[in-house]
Amino acid sequence: ADANEQILRVEGLTVSFDGFKAVDGLSLSVERNELRVIIGPNGAGKTTLLDMICGKTRPSAGRVLFNGQDLGRLNEYEIVRTGVGRKFQTPSVYEDLTVLENFELSLPRMHGLLQSLGFRRTPALRARIDAMAGQVFLSERIGDRAGQLSHGQKQWLEIGMLLMQEPELLLLDEPVAGMSAREREQTGDLLRRISAGKSVVVIEHDMDFVKRIAHRVTVLHQGRLLSEGTAAEVQADPRVIAVYLGH
Ligand code: ADP
Repeated sequence: ADANEQILRVEGLTVSFDGFKAVDGLSLSVERNELRVIIGPNGAGKTTLLDMICGKTRPSAGRVLFNGQDLGRLNEYEIVRTGVGRKFQTPSVYEDLTVLENFELSLPRMHGLLQSLGFRRTPALRARIDAMAGQVFLSERIGDRAGQLSHGQKQWLEIGMLLMQEPELLLLDEPVAGMSAREREQTGDLLRRISAGKSVVVIEHDMDFVKRIAHRVTVLHQGRLLSEGTAAEVQADPRVIAVYLGH
């Protein structure tokens, strides 16, 4: 692919925990407006990969380039400001606050400052939040406390809160975990819509869901790249079959 179309490139990324290489010399790149799914058996290094991209874990070797910028010297907060949004596996929303208040708190610091100075709930901000609530299927729940939402709705709220910060790259760790079949379907549509204007990297296990949403799939195994291609291509790859069948 044209290097200009790459939004993310990791080169030789490596990290060890107690001498065990969780990610081992991994290189891959993600294009603009691509929805990439990362799969692989438990312990393959998927979460650790996302942790290194967002600055939560420091690689011992290799580098992460985002829009051509080496993120190696930046801390987690600086990386967020470059346009990388990360969602962890468990939804983290403010349970005692309403959906509306959660969205208000998700805004970048400048907005937060304006809010504390009394510019809270301007019509323009409210319109933006209403539009976002609609995108993540929460229009009817805007006045409800987040604690009253279903697990899936909390995942949606968190995705919406991330989107309010207008990231260019979204890193999502198992966003459909704990969702009903209907919620999964809606989330698939949401992720495809998001990837029309942003790049999305998703860790996911459910191959039916992967086939439905992925532009391309990266398969990790023992911290290394095992296979890459369309969902159909990686599913037909003998190396992938061997790993999943355990021989
Ligand atoms: P996956 O997300 O593919 O299931 P992980 O990235 O969570 O895999 O983990 C890869 C390996 O690294 C596992 O063996 C895991 O036990 C280990 N690991 C991950 N994070 C840490 C940590 N903070 N300390 C020690 N070992 C870790």
